[in-house]
Amino acid sequence: MMQAIRILIEQIEENRPALINAYQRAVTRQGNKKAREILDGVFEKRDTAWRGLGIIRESGLRVREEYGNIDAEKVFYIEIPEASEPEGCSCGDILTGLMIPPECPLFKRICTPIDPVGPCMVSSEGTCAAYYRYYDKVQGLLQRGSRLEHTEYS
Ligand code: SF4
Repeated sequence: MMQAIRILIEQIEENRPALINAYQRAVTRQGNKKAREILDGVFEKRDTAWRGLGIIRESGLRVREEYGNIDAEKVFYIEIPEASEPEGCSCGDILTGLMIPPECPLFKRICTPIDPVGPCMVSSEGTCAAYYRYYDKVQGLLQRGSRLEHTEYS
């Protein structure tokens, strides 16, 4: 934990954002070879549709044909409908960084954590839910900070 904090502080100071494995003695670039072999034996990659992002090549898994007898999709004849955004919801643009939640016309007016329209507002870690909870507070702190900065240096 301390090492991760040190690495993050260095990255901030050097303005050098990066993804770094701070736990190399336990986590290798190749991952857990044995676990990967077992998973590869049971699952194979498949193109998968992600809400707001569309189909991404080989981004999902399916049970291999030889394990079809325990594949819930086949055993229970499950058809998973394509995930589509509710009308007016901009989760796709938010997930891809094209918009921030307050730019969605439904944000706070119609879409709230108690009555969410889209998935980004549903769980507490959803982007819209986080903005709903913290955006005003952060804006207030930023404005206060800039006023203090202005006072100190002017
Ligand atoms: S505020 Fe609601 S409707 Fe708008 S993008 Fe977020 S989840 Fe979708």
